[in-house]
Amino acid sequence: MLCENCEAYYKKEEAPDGLCPIHGKKLEEVEEQNYFFKLSRYQKQLKKIIESDELKIIPEARKNEVLGFIDQGLEDICISRSSERMQGWGIKVPGDDSQTIWCWLDALVNYISALDYAKDGQKFKNWWVNNPRKIHFIGKDIIKFHAVYWPAFLLSAGLPLPRMIFTHGWLTVDGQKMSKSRGTGVDPFKLSQEYGSDAVRYFLLREIPSTKDGDFSLAKFKERYNADLASGLGNLFSRVNKLAREMKVKPELTGLETRQAIKEVQQEYVQAMAQYDFREALMSIWNLIAFCDQYIEQEEPWQGEEGAEEVVADLLFVLGRIAGLLEPFLPQASQRMLSQLAGQKESSSLFPRLK
Ligand SMILES: [Zn+2]
Repeated sequence: MLCENCEAYYKKEEAPDGLCPIHGKKLEEVEEQNYFFKLSRYQKQLKKIIESDELKIIPEARKNEVLGFIDQGLEDICISRSSERMQGWGIKVPGDDSQTIWCWLDALVNYISALDYAKDGQKFKNWWVNNPRKIHFIGKDIIKFHAVYWPAFLLSAGLPLPRMIFTHGWLTVDGQKMSKSRGTGVDPFKLSQEYGSDAVRYFLLREIPSTKDGDFSLAKFKERYNADLASGLGNLFSRVNKLAREMKVKPELTGLETRQAIKEVQQEYVQAMAQYDFREALMSIWNLIAFCDQYIEQEEPWQGEEGAEEVVADLLFVLGRIAGLLEPFLPQASQRMLSQLAGQKESSSLFPRLK
């Protein structure tokens, strides 16, 4: 039975109610002759490659899902469709116009045909063959195509496998699946135009665990923006800069406590990034922001007592580090912070408060 949205066949036992397990749409019974790929031949090899993390699947739960699927036994898969039914869509099977190549085989091959695989060119060599860090970032609903079919195709062609498949979850809006027809979506371009792409990126990466489902709502977005960006980061930055201007201080690391705080946060950050845990990485940066807030309250450098200048110099130094750590997440804000720390004047605040 066929789901046109998945462009994949389901067996009766995979969809006992006759509905697509992903789209919930009624499946169509199709009878036609097609070409098959001998997937069964790669069962043992695929299992070994995935179990040993030679092809690493993140998160662990998805890896287990894939291993479970392989353990059920891999059957040969149909890799062409009748050209008549496709009505001109797709690429014809070489030497047999009556058949069209299955869109998933066609799509997956794009990873190497977009490089110059067909010409055995330099891009293909640089980015695929000799690249030890080939990572696919995919949605959880297409894991089977990427973690089972694609590596099997590559094995059969004698080509190197990707190193890792990172699987993210689904995004809902106000607790509902996004749907154009029901008007339950959110336009990321509009959102970026209104609030800046840094803020949108921050919300998505901070609020939603990178491998799980998450929800967007404008209320939550504004709440996080005001708490973390306007009050947290923005407020600290303008406060320290104001003091630095008044006291004519430049960034310099002197405090032991500060040095220790930076070191700890950098370790957490590097660890989190290595796991692709962007939320954790951002939380570690905000730990450093919280440290600065505490430090400034405790030392009260605005009183102008002895050592006040060192405190401000210290804080300026940490802000430089924070800007560096933020670079992959908030590239624009990071740049503005760095140029301001280097002495350039800035009139508007980093993240003006939202109403
Ligand atoms: Zn479907």
